[in-house]
Amino acid sequence: MTTDIAIHDAYVLTVDDRNRLYDRGTVLIEDGRITEVRPSRDGDPDIAAGRVIDGEKKLVMPGLVNAHTHLELTPLIGAFSDLDLVEMTSGMTAIFGNIAEGEYDYLTKVGYELAALNFLAGGVTTVNSMDVRPSAGAETFGAAGLRGFFGMALSDLFWDVPVDEQFERAREFIDEYHDTYDGRIHATICPHDDWSCTRNLWERTARLAAEYPDLLVHTHLLELEASNTMARSNGAEDSLGLLNDVGLLDDRLVAAHFRLADDEDIQRTADADAWVAHCPSIFCYWNTGDDVQWTPVPELRSAGVDVGLGVDDHYWHDSYNLFGEARQARLAANLKRSAGQYHSMELVRMLTIEGAQALGVGDEIGSLEPGKQADVILLDVDSPKFTPLTNIPAQVANNAAPADVEAVIVDGDVLMEEGEVGTMDVNAVRERAEWAVERFTSETDWELGIGGSEPPKKMAVARDLPKRGPAQLLGRLAFQSVRDRFPF
Ligand SMILES: [Zn+2]
Repeated sequence: MTTDIAIHDAYVLTVDDRNRLYDRGTVLIEDGRITEVRPSRDGDPDIAAGRVIDGEKKLVMPGLVNAHTHLELTPLIGAFSDLDLVEMTSGMTAIFGNIAEGEYDYLTKVGYELAALNFLAGGVTTVNSMDVRPSAGAETFGAAGLRGFFGMALSDLFWDVPVDEQFERAREFIDEYHDTYDGRIHATICPHDDWSCTRNLWERTARLAAEYPDLLVHTHLLELEASNTMARSNGAEDSLGLLNDVGLLDDRLVAAHFRLADDEDIQRTADADAWVAHCPSIFCYWNTGDDVQWTPVPELRSAGVDVGLGVDDHYWHDSYNLFGEARQARLAANLKRSAGQYHSMELVRMLTIEGAQALGVGDEIGSLEPGKQADVILLDVDSPKFTPLTNIPAQVANNAAPADVEAVIVDGDVLMEEGEVGTMDVNAVRERAEWAVERFTSETDWELGIGGSEPPKKMAVARDLPKRGPAQLLGRLAFQSVRDRFPF
């Protein structure tokens, strides 16, 4: 037996079942897996290993899991920051329609590169991304050494792309990319949400899911007021009722949001062993009303549902900071309800092991335990912001930031060391991102510069909007709302 990597004399936050924390700990890695996690011994600096890392004044913890995200528009960071909700959604709908038709491949390809680079540098070792053109995502994350779940968004009311074509492309993606890059890249099946898909689309999705029983089904549920309205328009009792009808409410389901979940929804989710990804920043930033119901995460977790954290559309709120989602989850819940909604360690678990559980890989990653894949990050805690170093779980949940991450290991491979990413050409990615945004702004008349962002004039956006799907979507919701108010 030869040890590949030995990290010694570090603070080690294992996130195991007992939340063990060592103030002077050693982690050994061999053939991509963790072989030992234990208190350091005096001889550990001289241990026979391919690489010995002195962990003094470093915090070693599991890599973070971004349990729900969309990556391909990453270069548009800053473009949406100051728009109002209507401007943002109409601008996005126009862009998405065009992406689905392959118009902005130059932007989406480098979007994955920029996302991989920034998430890697910030300690995120696994992403679960739903996109329109996911092939480039799978290739980029695979080549960078990261772990990723990728799937093609399917919807028949959100855009005008023919449904047959969508399913054909989703199937091709699965066949080509599932279980590639040493098993680090997984394909998923992604019906987009419960407010822009008809029952027919859900039934087709269920048939596809039955053909590929190893794949997760990744969607958005109970996100908007329209979620249950659309489910009733689809002939179901409510959103989860529709999923149950078509046979998708089970342990393969990972659903973002659950903002509107009531007690019955929570119980049904727990009974089905389904999983939830909570994305607090996106709803705090794009608040849809002054009396928004807040996601009942504490209730979901006490019912036994594992809840991961996700940054969702990070380019809408200008943040690559997954640590920040832990803080935001706490702030939003405490503001909306009362203080003490979470213990810090619960938030650390949501950033790591619970995100891994939600993606069905909790036995493989998410904690530092012998036998698990070695997805490990090192934070430099030898700095004023971490002085004095008390309450490490609280420091991680409230105070840590991507810039504190110094080294990243995935599957036992060192992807970043001393702050330098070794598996990507950082300068080339930056140049391509700048070029792509210049081309995008010149093609769309979207002004995006150091002073701010100005979307194209309304008429230009309206002309580019998909017509059939969204018109039908709005019509169905309006009709169902009338039926709900005046049952006949
Ligand atoms: Zn989302």
